[in-house]
Amino acid sequence: MRLDGWGRFPTHEGRTVAVAAPRELGPLLRDGAGLVARGNGRAYGDAAMGEALTVLGRGLNRMTAFDPVSGNLTVEAGVLLSEILDVFVPRGFFPPVVPGTKLVTVGGMIASDIHGKNHHRDGGFGAYLQSLDLVLPSGETVHCSREENAELFFATIGGMGLTGIIAQATMTLRPIETAWIDQRTIIAPDLGAALQALDDSNDATYSVAWIDCIAGGAALGRSLVYVGEHATREQFAAAQSQRGVLAPAARARLGVPLELPSWTLNRASVMAFNEVYFRAGSRKEQALVHFNPYFFPLDGVDQWNRIYGRRGFLQHQCVVPPDNAHAVLSEILDRFSRSGKASFLAVLKKLGNGTGPLSFPIPGYTLALDVRVTDEIFTLLDEIDAIVVRAGGRLYLTKDARQSRQTFEAGYSRLGEFRQMRRSIGAEGRLQSRLSSRLGI
Ligand SMILES: Cc1cc2nc3c(=O)[nH]c(=O)nc-3n(C[C@H](O)[C@H](O)[C@H](O)COP(=O)(O)OP(=O)(O)OC[C@H]3O[C@@H](n4cnc5c(N)ncnc54)[C@H](O)[C@@H]3O)c2cc1C
Repeated sequence: MRLDGWGRFPTHEGRTVAVAAPRELGPLLRDGAGLVARGNGRAYGDAAMGEALTVLGRGLNRMTAFDPVSGNLTVEAGVLLSEILDVFVPRGFFPPVVPGTKLVTVGGMIASDIHGKNHHRDGGFGAYLQSLDLVLPSGETVHCSREENAELFFATIGGMGLTGIIAQATMTLRPIETAWIDQRTIIAPDLGAALQALDDSNDATYSVAWIDCIAGGAALGRSLVYVGEHATREQFAAAQSQRGVLAPAARARLGVPLELPSWTLNRASVMAFNEVYFRAGSRKEQALVHFNPYFFPLDGVDQWNRIYGRRGFLQHQCVVPPDNAHAVLSEILDRFSRSGKASFLAVLKKLGNGTGPLSFPIPGYTLALDVRVTDEIFTLLDEIDAIVVRAGGRLYLTKDARQSRQTFEAGYSRLGEFRQMRRSIGAEGRLQSRLSSRLGI
């Protein structure tokens, strides 16, 4: 079967096997080699492609326990975030951390230790994980938590599927009063103002800056910074909304700030789109927005990853430490802006500490940009990687399809610890993705 990631680059021919129950994982792992799990294929590059065999985990789709007092939810690893939202938002619970799409599995969220718009304050998905059942290369299933098999527990959080296959996991949901976000928009005329707005919003639950990365010169880094809190019932009542207080999905695409153009992505079209977006966003300073468009604006556009054309696209997501971040991010944005490589998705967020040795987050700012695959783009991205490495930063593995081993090794200081864990459980050569082969993990 031909596999690719969300960016549709690279592709890989390999065998796949679909599992329907956790008990099927043991024999597969015991007898297999060169394999890795795949959730819903939303990693952008080659993380969810087994070197020889890819284990399709969406069939592990049962929710097995929920305690409304603690908020603890136990599910199999193939359950989608969208399924959790559909069931639990009407009951007044919300996942503690969500990424920019709800079409991801619990296994994928753990393996990437995903971060949301609240990482600066609340940490990543791994911070809310109570325990997981992991099937090792030996075929044995082990229960891992902060108390039991703790090293394996932490290595699996952000471990990109390279410590075993997660069969099921328990996480803690947070209570909410409504399905709505009280959103405040801050207009930042340049990068310095955007960083300042994120810093000033440290106490806010959610914050994110959408950067118009076409803007250059004095407007380099001009942004709309969205700050959000879960709206209370009082706020919802005051807005006199006729819409559902705990509506799981929107109907509520009302107020969606982002509608993607269907025309081709050339520089002129992206500039025009960014101009319209910036002006439209600037008009509403405070609004109640349904969680769906607030967190998952792109999910409403089916297969938007195809608009970059046949060769696909890459996402470059780095994090750089706070010292000197303004100069470093300016240099990166300036390189992109001057290269004329159109990107209409540029997102800036503030991060705190990651949970596992291979977790992406470190304290600092993360910048994510999409670029279409062309012959020339790889050289530009290598140059940008060098800026990131010099600044003491790193790239996000789940978005990566092309970084070099040198870049990876320079960025991930706890790699030795992770490799040692893999050796100790016999994972080398057995659990192997295209990503792990490329980077020598
Ligand atoms: C539009 C969009 C927005 C995004 N926004 C964010 C964001 O804001 N923050 C963020 O952190 N990420 C973000 N992501 C990335 C996404 O959250 C991760 O790539 C996530 O891991 C995808 O989950 P998945 O189920 O599709 O996993 P896949 O893509 O199928 O796999 C991802 C990794 O998880 C491993 N894996 C999957 N299932 C298991 C299992 N059962 N056991 C062990 N390992 C497993 C795979 O081996 C692979 O290494 C975004 C992606 C998209 C497409």
